[in-house]
Amino acid sequence: MMPSRRTPAASLIVALLATASPLLAADKPAEKEPAVVTPGPVPSDAISLFDGKDLSKWKGEQGGEAKWKLLADGVMEVNGTGSIMTREEFADCQLHVEWASPSEVKGEGQGRGNSGVYLQGRYEIQVLDSYQNKTYFNGQAAAFYGNAAPLVNACRKPGEWQSYDIIFHAPKLAEDGKTILPGSFTVLHNGILVQDHIPVKGDATTAAKFKGVAPKAPLVLQDHGNPVHYRNIWIRPL
Ligand code: MG
Repeated sequence: MMPSRRTPAASLIVALLATASPLLAADKPAEKEPAVVTPGPVPSDAISLFDGKDLSKWKGEQGGEAKWKLLADGVMEVNGTGSIMTREEFADCQLHVEWASPSEVKGEGQGRGNSGVYLQGRYEIQVLDSYQNKTYFNGQAAAFYGNAAPLVNACRKPGEWQSYDIIFHAPKLAEDGKTILPGSFTVLHNGILVQDHIPVKGDATTAAKFKGVAPKAPLVLQDHGNPVHYRNIWIRPL
């Protein structure tokens, strides 16, 4: 009998190599060279939404000018004139927001330092003074309001500056025009992971003003009647 040209083991190795070959580096398609971005404090490819000078990127929720109070030190203050929204509309994005709850502590639970960052005017990452202030878990600071509590409570003291870094992927309509494909939230609160790729379903909205999904929509900052401060807001559409 003629000897086989390959032992069974050698044949197996050849077969495995054939299967694995699409993963070999030499076979990968050429990648696009990443664009150069200067990190900043504000990344060079970001859109600044509030740099402390004016409210020109914003309008009132009911139309007209945004009327939040501009303070001397590059800060804006929620002042009871209603929520504000960006003039520009966004979809998937990376968003940086700095905020501080009032240093004078008033109220409790949802009544203390309440505001909110609404992606697409629909999906709220809660702003709240959650420093030694209990409330329902999916309504505390850095919660995806009404949907997901933060992994930890990373809240600083009242009056201290805090940051949210939010990576948002919007829910989208599938090709059939009816099925809603979920999006996602990943959130860092003061640099600490608090929302880890949480699904954002199409019906997860907490804003009565906005329903359904939209290709693009404004970012909204909530006026909940508490004098919360904001500064240094920028966004990178993805
Ligand atoms: Mg709120």
